[in-house]
Amino acid sequence: MKSNFVPHPNLAGDGRCRICDFAYSTLVPAEVAQHRRYHARYLAACGSVGAPMPTAERESRRQAGLAVQFNERIPLRERIAAAERWLEAEHHDHLAEVLLYGVQRLDLREYFTKHVEPSRLSSFENDVAAELRLRYSDSFVA
Ligand SMILES: [Zn+2]
Repeated sequence: MKSNFVPHPNLAGDGRCRICDFAYSTLVPAEVAQHRRYHARYLAACGSVGAPMPTAERESRRQAGLAVQFNERIPLRERIAAAERWLEAEHHDHLAEVLLYGVQRLDLREYFTKHVEPSRLSSFENDVAAELRLRYSDSFVA
């Protein structure tokens, strides 16, 4: 498992957590314990604002979002709303990567523009994909 400890370049044992930004020394057990408590509270705080949503919730929204696509009996507006739930789940996967691996955080619009279109829009019918582009893409030109 990848360590979240970012060591100080010059001071042995000193560093900070890449996720919660808590500075501590790995050589001082009390500080290690302090970090563990702080880290747990940090994750709880992130969860309370819903970012990123838990893995199971993301997967559930992703599946629900995809399930209604290509079903002509479901109105376009509902298929678009479902596609937005799929997109939200995908974006929260990205937020989880930010939290775990420190990749640069992208807002929904940046994420959509860089990582979703055009390749992954093939999961949606053209009318739904076009509406997502209109709402979320920076590169869309009417
Ligand atoms: Zn931490």
